[in-house]
Amino acid sequence: MIYIHVPFCRSFCTYCDFYSELLGEEAGPLKRYTDELCAEIKRRSGEMDDSLKTLYFGGGTPSLLPLTHLTRILLTLEECGHGGPYREFTMEVNPDDIVEKGLPYAQSLKALGVNRISIGVQSFDDELLRWMNRRHDALCAKEAFRIVREAGIDNISLDLIFGLSNLSDKGWESTIDQALELNPEHISCYQLSVEGESLLAALVEKGEYEEASDELCRHQYDILCQKMKAAGYSHYEISNFAKPGFEAVHNGGYWQRRPYVGLGPSAHSFSGKGRSWNDEILEDYHLTSEALSVEDEKVETLMLALRTARGIDAEFLTANCLPENINRLVKAGALVKTGSRYRIPEDHFFVSDEIIRELV
Ligand code: SF4
Repeated sequence: MIYIHVPFCRSFCTYCDFYSELLGEEAGPLKRYTDELCAEIKRRSGEMDDSLKTLYFGGGTPSLLPLTHLTRILLTLEECGHGGPYREFTMEVNPDDIVEKGLPYAQSLKALGVNRISIGVQSFDDELLRWMNRRHDALCAKEAFRIVREAGIDNISLDLIFGLSNLSDKGWESTIDQALELNPEHISCYQLSVEGESLLAALVEKGEYEEASDELCRHQYDILCQKMKAAGYSHYEISNFAKPGFEAVHNGGYWQRRPYVGLGPSAHSFSGKGRSWNDEILEDYHLTSEALSVEDEKVETLMLALRTARGIDAEFLTANCLPENINRLVKAGALVKTGSRYRIPEDHFFVSDEIIRELV
């Protein structure tokens, strides 16, 4: 599993505090980024585990990376013995880049081996998109989807956001309906949170935005779950829905705690025993590592596995959690045992953090 972080954005979205650099028209930063990334691939090639054979370009905005640079990165991976074809090769894209660069760009991505595209749609409500400071509108998102499909990508995921106090039921239902009309294979839906360095945090501070209550978030989540179920998607992870056979392989590896190597500024890695992360700077970044204690490993395993509909091995749960806690949660319907596994049922996904806290 290889993750590559592309830390550039054309503008910053209201809610986001990911590490990213504002990209202007100059070519220098992208070239220097690619140089350093290729050097890192060579340096860390020995850490890469190809058992799942997935490659994921996330950001930032990977669709800002010119094809020449993307090709160089892929060739460097190949030189190091980690080239394609990949079982899953995902590229996150912004709708405005796809529409601006057009069908030839999407076709080139496919020719380079990309077989899954994740489009950052967030909403189909133009007013909300402007409030989020996104660069696209609803029409642009739909056009981007059409282009990606026309290029022959048969595994498309859409990202949506809920949990906003300025999102009406009607607006939310309409966004989900418009997403479903496109017939994507996968939808990821994240609850908005107010992150420390984001513009949104400043708005909250100034009293210009009031966070959505837990009840409202729960209500919006319930609307989502009902609509996705009616449309035939499986709710296989708290924030993820897929048509049968289109569950994300790479992200699935994270939830199973498989080792992965994260490359590029601010990218995180997991060796199977410890975690490490690159500095949040564009050039000359370094890796910091941390070993995990037995307790850390236990908590991580529980937290990650219980986010999924597959749940956790019953033996692991009973060996690591108090029986009275497990029994209480089972009685309350917050944990269900199916065969040799325990899982949190969908109607309790929303409070999974509290359930996991009770267990650990
Ligand atoms: S949400 Fe994506 S495009 Fe927007 S600022 Fe964050 S990384 Fe950049």
